[in-house]
Amino acid sequence: MSCTIWWIRRDLRLHDNQALDAARRDGQVVIPLWIFDPALINSPNTGRKRFAFLREGLCALDKELRLRGSRLIVRHGAPGDVLQVLLLETGASAVYAKADHTPYARRRDSAIASTLPLHLFAGTTVHPPGSVLKADGGPYSLFSAFRSTWLSLPLPGTASLIPTPHNLQSPPAVIGDPLEPGTEENSASSELFPAGEAAALQRLEQFVQGGLATYGEQRNRLDQLATSCLSPYLRFGMLSPRHAVVAALEALPGAASGARAWLDELIWRDFFTHVLHHFPYVQHQSFREKYRSFRWRDDEIGLTAWQQGQTGYPVVDAAMRQLQETGWLPNRARMIAASFLSKHLLLDWRDGERWFRRQLLDGDLAANNGNWQWVAGTGTDAAPYFRIFNPITQGKKHDPDGQYVRHWVPELATVSTKFVHEPWQMPPEVQQAAGCIIGEVYPWPIVDHRMARDRALAFYRSDVQFVD
Ligand code: FAD
Repeated sequence: MSCTIWWIRRDLRLHDNQALDAARRDGQVVIPLWIFDPALINSPNTGRKRFAFLREGLCALDKELRLRGSRLIVRHGAPGDVLQVLLLETGASAVYAKADHTPYARRRDSAIASTLPLHLFAGTTVHPPGSVLKADGGPYSLFSAFRSTWLSLPLPGTASLIPTPHNLQSPPAVIGDPLEPGTEENSASSELFPAGEAAALQRLEQFVQGGLATYGEQRNRLDQLATSCLSPYLRFGMLSPRHAVVAALEALPGAASGARAWLDELIWRDFFTHVLHHFPYVQHQSFREKYRSFRWRDDEIGLTAWQQGQTGYPVVDAAMRQLQETGWLPNRARMIAASFLSKHLLLDWRDGERWFRRQLLDGDLAANNGNWQWVAGTGTDAAPYFRIFNPITQGKKHDPDGQYVRHWVPELATVSTKFVHEPWQMPPEVQQAAGCIIGEVYPWPIVDHRMARDRALAFYRSDVQFVD
């Protein structure tokens, strides 16, 4: 029987999967293959939580495959070597995979494709990089223009989604490495993020039926789960981005403002993947040339306080602790925390970007880098340098009763709403009554907001090197 390999990378799903579909068309038997690539496993950017989420996602995929008569084959090693051996062992005619747009993946794939029959398919984004271009054929660096061209291209509809196969032929009896399910200690699974495509599809359904209608107004609330919480699933392709877009488009008539706002976020996801594809140097440096020579402050103590949620600004600390504990953050919290690092502390955005990527379940080079550069003002279509989030007013606006802060910063659990976003303003007797002595139970702010704001403005405006 003819045999093909479906090399799974960022598409841990059976629904709407172009690579799997092509592999099935070409071969009566498809070998679903996952390769643990040491270059990725050992990368300092691969955090423990995301790795555990991936492993649990693979277990879930294996279960789905077994229900259909197949199974996942897992191997460890350099992908080119593993594929070469497996092609020889099985006589498979070709390898089918979805395109991945990180610089590392592109280098790897082009090296493999030069010697092995590797065929790449679109589907990591809704419109693949190279398909959303300016009239002169160049790539966009402005989101609004990208968005209107993106929307003018043919959009997926229900009929264009590739159905989940009901049956799959069992792969030949090749030996795979064991896929360890993980222990309780290193598990990523939480009530919020059970891994796998079944959980992803269920989450999408719940969101479309529930939160989508009010998404436009509520999405910045920190004290409510007002967004879809689909990012880890989209990151690993447990959910097809085309499927998500179809859901948004179908909801437009009844939930217009929510669905439109949500669709925009899905377009941002495509946008940053395209940016990384066309400007791969952003992985290591600012998109804007004028910021490349900046000498950011060198402040290990400030960086550690930020990472550990000990800055003395409650909303920043709540965000950083939520990140460490759960591996996920709402977008507003990410923006506040990122702005604090790059503007209040004037630390290199790349230090923050790396820390986020290591911690996040959805850590994704394109989205993380694009957003960090947006916040720091160094990127494509970036926030202007004078937009400096005030952590006190941001807290009051997006967490009006202080619930979010009290949950993640338990030292402030007994602090009243009046002071919860600026606890250092509590008079001594109020601190005493709340059992929250500033400087003992909870830190003083590591930097004064007004001074930090003026310093950042001077730094960005002057375009000169900062001297501490
Ligand atoms: P929803 O609001 O429900 O949006 C739906 C989907 O759209 C998301 O799941 C995500 O895939 C996409 N999306 C939403 N906002 C953005 C955005 N601004 N840029 C790109 N895609 C977006 N997102 C990641 O997926 N991975 C990252 O590593 C990442 N790092 C970030 C770092 C910073 C500093 C900031 C400010 C944002 C970052 N984001 C990242 C974008 C965004 O915060 C998350 O995608 C979003 O919070 C995930 O929650 P959700 O699934 O409920 O999103």
